[in-house]
Amino acid sequence: PILRAAVLKGDQNISAPSMLRLLGNRFSEVPPELLQVRGLRSLSLGGNRLHSIPPDIQELRSLEFLYLGGNFITAIPSELAKLPSLRYLVLCDNKIQSIPPQLAQLHSLRSLSLHNNLLTYLPREILNLVHLEELSLRGNPLVVRFVRDLTYNPPSLQELAGRTVKTRNVPYAPSDLPDSLVRYLSLASNCPNPKCGGVYFDSCVRQIKFVDFCGKYRLPLMHYLCSPECSTPFSSASQSSTSQSESDSEDEASVAAHRMQKVLLG
Ligand SMILES: [Zn+2]
Repeated sequence: PILRAAVLKGDQNISAPSMLRLLGNRFSEVPPELLQVRGLRSLSLGGNRLHSIPPDIQELRSLEFLYLGGNFITAIPSELAKLPSLRYLVLCDNKIQSIPPQLAQLHSLRSLSLHNNLLTYLPREILNLVHLEELSLRGNPLVVRFVRDLTYNPPSLQELAGRTVKTRNVPYAPSDLPDSLVRYLSLASNCPNPKCGGVYFDSCVRQIKFVDFCGKYRLPLMHYLCSPECSTPFSSASQSSTSQSESDSEDEASVAAHRMQKVLLG
């Protein structure tokens, strides 16, 4: 009731708290009242019984510290990425199976705790968290089990045509094409294989690739390739060692060492 009173909108006599510590309780969901404390900068709900994070968490625009460790959370809503000030995000000791790529939009993030979850890979976008100094991953299957995923649906005729248009720079006037086709062509993604130079649309190969950080740690990141032939030696033993060293150095060059000062594996 105190909390409810404190967050009642329009009550000028009670100032909303900037920090709430509700650790070790029995909350099975984030109380909706909390999501109305607009000035909240720090929220701790560790050691409760949460199974999910409400998408409305994005209403807490001032949040800098969010502690949700030790719950039963299985998924992270992409709305969590809409917290512009979030610096510390603790999600350890849950049951999280994947990280949404949108999380890379948390440009203020300094520390991300993900240890003791069920993660098998990280999205490649995690490399965009340029201010991240601390990332903990120990106790996830990704550390102890190599996961390989090479599912591939053959490209459609539209995709094959689109790939040809893009890779051969076939000129076209957008006014001559249906809007849907112009939009489709604008969605081409570049194949990350430096030797390929190709593009893909909907049909791609998902691949887990271990990338070196600081020459010390190896993070399993999700890659999307345009075809199975573009997979690297980490998932295909048939390619030469020269392509392996090339793709490795490319990855290391794209990841400045200072971005990951501390990765707690093992
Ligand atoms: Zn390719």
